[in-house]
This record gives sequence, structure tokens and C-alpha cells, in this order.
Amino acid sequence: MLNVSGVSVQYGEAVALDRVDLTVNRGEIVAVLGPSGSGKTSLLRAIAGLEPVTTGEIVWDDEPVTHLPAHRRGFGLMFQDHALFSHHDVIGNVEFGLRMQDDRSPPDRRSRARAVLDLVGMAGYDHRRVDQLSGGEQQRVALARALAPSPRLLMLDEPLASVDRERREHLAAELHRIIRAAGTPTLLVTHDLDEAFTLADVVVVLDGGRVLQRGPAPKVWRAPNSIVVARFLGVTTKLRLPVVAGSAATPWGMVTAPPNATTAWVGFRAADLRVDPDGPVGGTVRTVWFRRDHYLVELDTADGPMTVTSSRPPAVGDRVQVRADLEAAVILDA
Ligand code: ADP
Ligand code: MG
Repeated sequence: MLNVSGVSVQYGEAVALDRVDLTVNRGEIVAVLGPSGSGKTSLLRAIAGLEPVTTGEIVWDDEPVTHLPAHRRGFGLMFQDHALFSHHDVIGNVEFGLRMQDDRSPPDRRSRARAVLDLVGMAGYDHRRVDQLSGGEQQRVALARALAPSPRLLMLDEPLASVDRERREHLAAELHRIIRAAGTPTLLVTHDLDEAFTLADVVVVLDGGRVLQRGPAPKVWRAPNSIVVARFLGVTTKLRLPVVAGSAATPWGMVTAPPNATTAWVGFRAADLRVDPDGPVGGTVRTVWFRRDHYLVELDTADGPMTVTSSRPPAVGDRVQVRADLEAAVILDA
């Protein structure tokens, strides 16, 4: 198991990571989710041994690895830009990951490389040049190269960033299957909500080099612990409501406020607010966006602006009614 405690990384005076604590247990997929510049790549590089830490400790099981050189840590890293060698063919790239393992003979290296290429669905591509592959294929080769030496920890930097939107979901499912099949504990970092929540068991939210929240993925999704995290996790409509006797009255009914709160912040994702003629809240349509399987509608209401979904496109200026899934509301102390 990986245990990162109080790890900081600085570039000159600039603090990129500020006392980060993180655990990856056996068989677990952990996603660190944060906006660009939040310190995700710095974190992976520090754990991999490619960036010195200014404070803190990195421990694998009971072995401190903080000061071990990268190649002695036994961790595999797939870089954000893949960093494949364009002058090697596919199998050459994967074998490169095995060169540090002196106990392997060349035929053994080749058969191991073939086995992982098979695992990632790239069997038969051995002698293709990597610059003649699609983004998704390159991603699989990079993954195979990271997996080939059987690392005790796999780290992935924005693994789906270079894949076309249409292929993302498919590749995310593939990646999930491959990681599970290999059984390697995995730490991935991404700015993409879908990528984090479709792949990970545990999500850690990072901003400005600090951990804001961590927990099982469904729990973090349902219960962001701050307004900043809620906004980052797609909560677009927010109401500030007075708390009376422990409850706040939303236009759709009462919700329980956090203990001791005098004002509640009640937030909704667009998917949990729907245009419905029977909805109790009325609003005037300001903008309409087409979103493939639904429309995203911005409204002005007596309770403030709301972002809601609709199966049909209303016209700008229309009056519409809105219903809410109160169970899905995010409730915080304002
Ligand atoms: P992310 O991967 O989340 O986008 P990074 O870890 O790459 O974030 O960067 C975190 C912060 O550290 C950013 O402000 C970035 O500009 C800075 N940074 C990253 N690498 C370097 C470097 N080699 N030298 C100086 N500053 C850096
Ligand atoms: Mg990065």
C-alpha cells in the first residue's frame, strides 16, 4: 500500500504541492481530481521519484521510498503526453520498460511485451511505428509500457486526455477492465470529472496544491464538503436559504440543514432540475444549449438563476416550470 504523508513540492519559491496526504490500498483505483495547475503532475512525479520533495514522506508498505531513485521504487508512470519513442516500433517501446530488469533474457522480455500488448488490445501491432498510431492506440501502448515490468503501483497522468471525445467512454471502460485484470493498485490524476468518476473507487479533490476532500467516489459525488468542491463537481444552481428549526425551505420542500447552520447553501446539478409543466417553480428562459441527449436551459426565477435540463428545447423568453430531485441536493453551511 502507498502512503504519502505531508508531501510538499516547491519550484523555487512557488509551492506546487502543500503537505498532501494520500493512500492507495491494494487493488484500489484512486483518482486525484483537480483543475489545471493544481499540482497533479507534480504529485505523480514526486511519488515516482522524478521530483524532490521539500517536506513529507512516501512509504510503500513499511518501506520509506522518499529518497530512493526512481528506478528502485518499482512504480510505473504513464506520462500525460505518453512520451513514446517515435524511433522505436510498438514492441520496442514496451520492451524499453523492461530494460531495467536484468533477470529477464531477451526472449523473455519479448514474450512479456507481447502478453501486455495482448492485454491492452494491441496484439499484432508489434512492428508498427508509434507515430503511425491513433491517439487511443498510442495511449494503449503507453499503458502497456507502464504495465510491462509488473509495477507494484501504476500511476497515470490524464490517461484519456489525448483520446477523441467519442472514444473516451469506451476507452475508460477498457482501461478499467485492464487495471482490474492486472490487479495493480492505481493512482491516476485528471481534471476531467467523467474520467475520475468512471474509473476510480476513491476520489481525492486537489486545488492549489492542497487536498480539499477525499472519499469513496459515490460519497464525494453526493456530498461535496465545501462550496468550492461542489462547484468543481458540477453543482451549478445554488440557493441561499435561512435555516429555521434545523431545516431550510426550498421551493420543492424542506431539507435538513447542517448542524448549527443559520443559513444553508442548497445546490443542484443541472441533471437534478428538470423542466416539467407540473413543477412548482416558474422561470423565464434566458439561454438554451443543445447537449446531444438533452437541452441545458438557463432560467431566471424568483429564487435566482437556475441551470436545468429539458428533453425539448424551450424558446428564449418562454415561461417554464421546474421540478427538482431533492434527494440529490447538496446541502452545506453557507
Ligand atoms: P497540473 O498537473 O495539475 O496541471 P502541475 O503539477 O503541472 O499541475 O503544476 C503545478 C504548479 O507548479 C503550476 O503552477 C505550474 O505552473 C508549476 N510548475 C510545474 N512544473 C514546474 C517547473 N518545472 N518549474 C516551475 N514551476 C512548475
Ligand atoms: Mg498535469
